[in-house]
Amino acid sequence: MRTQVAIIGAGPAGLFLSLLLKRLGIESVILELHTRQYIEERVRAGLLEYNTVQLMHELGVGERLRRQGLEHGGIELRFNGRSHRIDFRDLAAGKCVTIYAQHEVIKDLVAARLAANCPILFETTDATLHALDSTSPYVTFRHNSQKEGAAERLDCDFIAGCDGFHGVSRAAIPAGVLTTYERDYPFGWLGILAQAPPASKELIYVHHDRGFALLSMRSPEITRLYLQCAPDEDLGLWPDDRIWSELHKRFATRDGWRLTEGPITQKAVTGMRSFVVEPMQFGRLFLAGDAAHIVPPTGAKGLNLAVSDVGVLAEALGSFYSRGSSDLLAQYSATCLRRVWKVQRFSWWMTQLLHRFPDDNPFDHRRQLADLDYVTTSRAASQSLAENYVGLPLP
Ligand SMILES: Cc1cc2nc3c(=O)[nH]c(=O)nc-3n(C[C@H](O)[C@H](O)[C@H](O)COP(=O)(O)OP(=O)(O)OC[C@H]3O[C@@H](n4cnc5c(N)ncnc54)[C@H](O)[C@@H]3O)c2cc1C
Repeated sequence: MRTQVAIIGAGPAGLFLSLLLKRLGIESVILELHTRQYIEERVRAGLLEYNTVQLMHELGVGERLRRQGLEHGGIELRFNGRSHRIDFRDLAAGKCVTIYAQHEVIKDLVAARLAANCPILFETTDATLHALDSTSPYVTFRHNSQKEGAAERLDCDFIAGCDGFHGVSRAAIPAGVLTTYERDYPFGWLGILAQAPPASKELIYVHHDRGFALLSMRSPEITRLYLQCAPDEDLGLWPDDRIWSELHKRFATRDGWRLTEGPITQKAVTGMRSFVVEPMQFGRLFLAGDAAHIVPPTGAKGLNLAVSDVGVLAEALGSFYSRGSSDLLAQYSATCLRRVWKVQRFSWWMTQLLHRFPDDNPFDHRRQLADLDYVTTSRAASQSLAENYVGLPLP
């Protein structure tokens, strides 16, 4: 098999890249480890920045998003038992964010790609990247749904490593090339999905002595709730009653605001990490999305950052194929990293602002409350939060 761009991974990065390349008349083949059903049902992120929504409309994949997405013009920050609204439309030039689950995005992108007769090879295993520092890289793999898993080879001009944090692309770069910057957090999030109408139209971020909490939603009928917990929290210690009791304590306000309860349909613990590798390229391999960086979920940026990376990559590949110029490809990593680090900063800032750290002392607690007071009373500070939350300008 031969194509122009081999894409490893059909997550947001790989699928958005494939549609951006298609628009530029560039061929690609996607190799995906899992089945279509698996990736279309995997529950992950749920908040789209303004630019991500615009891109879905531009690519002609925004029809369900337009009907089902929930536009949010702000968030609430709750501390000391009081809520304070950050009004994005006022502070960020009319922009807003949209709640639309990542697996729904995946369904829309997969459907568009397959409708255009562009291949996604599901259930490929043993993907191995070769000759990355030549002009003729290739990928070998096994494709289980055809030829009973016989070894196959995909020749290409470029490889896009869009296979997430645990993928094979980053690991294919020779030792000594990449520098890793990382930070683990001494807590995780216990997340639940509940069949209950959200008690708020907008997300509520809670700073509380007992730890952080977040109210989000999947639809007008389904609430998503998170509690700060230990990174290795044992879910067996959290029967539904204990979860609701803890949520009620953290969300309580002085004026008696109440959470709505409903049957819990999913429970999971998510770890928190900040991670970046530099550079995001080696020879003809370009890393995008979680393959190159991870952010803690507090700023809701993981999916959106993957989308901004592949926007840069598509433009650079377009310039290569239309004008024969490698200049933008050579700058790919540096161009992406400027935005990646700003998003890392924001995600870290939101995380340290709202969570309890095990070594916090009363000074740290007072400092957090002062920061929250500042950000909710100063227009300059709340504007900075709003501008980052709806999404910084694309590179
Ligand atoms: C449990 C969980 C919850 C999350 N919650 C949030 C959230 O609330 N908010 C937020 O902003 N972000 C969240 N994130 C982060 C967000 O989902 C990711 O940042 C986003 O999915 C990144 O997209 P990606 O395409 O780079 O990687 P991925 O979505 O990880 O996609 C990579 C794809 O590559 C495939 N793949 C992996 N290895 C191989 C291989 N060897 N060969 C072929 N294919 C391979 C995978 O199956 C996958 O389909 C969450 C992540 C996780 C894991």
